[in-house]
Amino acid sequence: MNPFNPRLLRLVREQRGCSQTVVADYLGVRQAAYSKYESGAVTPSQDAQKQLAALFGYIPSFFTQKIDTFPSGLIYHRKRSALSSKERAKIEAEARLRMIDIQKMAQQQKLHSNLPDLSNVSPKEAAAKLRAQWNIPRGPIANMVETLENNGIVVLAFDFGTDLLDGFFVRLDTSSICIVLNSNEAFSPDRNRFTLAHELGHVLLHRDVMPDKKTEREADEFASEFLLPTEDIAPELRQAALTFARLKELKKKWMVSIAAIVFKAHRTQCMTTFAYRRFWTFMSSSGYRKNEPPCDLERETPALLRRMVVAQSKLTPDLPKFFHLTRERYEERYRLT
Ligand SMILES: [Zn+2]
Repeated sequence: MNPFNPRLLRLVREQRGCSQTVVADYLGVRQAAYSKYESGAVTPSQDAQKQLAALFGYIPSFFTQKIDTFPSGLIYHRKRSALSSKERAKIEAEARLRMIDIQKMAQQQKLHSNLPDLSNVSPKEAAAKLRAQWNIPRGPIANMVETLENNGIVVLAFDFGTDLLDGFFVRLDTSSICIVLNSNEAFSPDRNRFTLAHELGHVLLHRDVMPDKKTEREADEFASEFLLPTEDIAPELRQAALTFARLKELKKKWMVSIAAIVFKAHRTQCMTTFAYRRFWTFMSSSGYRKNEPPCDLERETPALLRRMVVAQSKLTPDLPKFFHLTRERYEERYRLT
């Protein structure tokens, strides 16, 4: 059996968002003693390991998993000053723990993301090339989640419990990618789609590059071109006056925000700078800048992860054990995914 892995203990505690003191109290030890478990200075007794596993919804073998890398994407994500370090740690712990499951399944099921090397082309060119490689027909992308999943990219959606972070991506050992999406209600379906395209842009364009203002701009440019290819959208932007009613129509058709359409219109000279500025004044004064009219867009739901769990159940019948989860926790995690 592998030795106790203290990093996993810290992860499950952070995932729960509880302090060391709370867990120490539960075990009936002092916080100073408990902290030695997490630092690896002291290995908890078998009995304490059992208690800890039960507390967090795992079986004791969870703590003896040999995991060399804990894939994470949030680390590399642009720091949002408003996001507290505790919130950040909680989101990151949740994602990392889920990545352990996903990585195990991806390895056994030989999942590979279909991603060409586009690190040396412009964001605009990358969007066009990827659309071609993925055989995406011209016009709007009917379903962004499905498009990603069809190309071996896992979308993991959960509520981050905050609206200060839209999402991030994680590179798995298996050369596949997982995009972690915040399913918080504060975000509209079109915003989720843009986030997915934005993260996809980072995946393609920014291998081993630390995020800064430039990478953010490039990811946005990629997303804009991937969701709204200039060649396809420009004729529509020129076809009729860009009244608010017309913009709502375009939003419904292309499933992107009105703001993204107007940005594109200005970028492609389908809208004058004067009209662009006037538009933003209108958006601010009418409150649409914060909350655009929803235009009946449907929320897209991931399905690949669920399919992977089903496929895995055929390879390993005792899935809770495979994931080192209690049956209860397993049901909670995977029944609704
Ligand atoms: Zn970004």
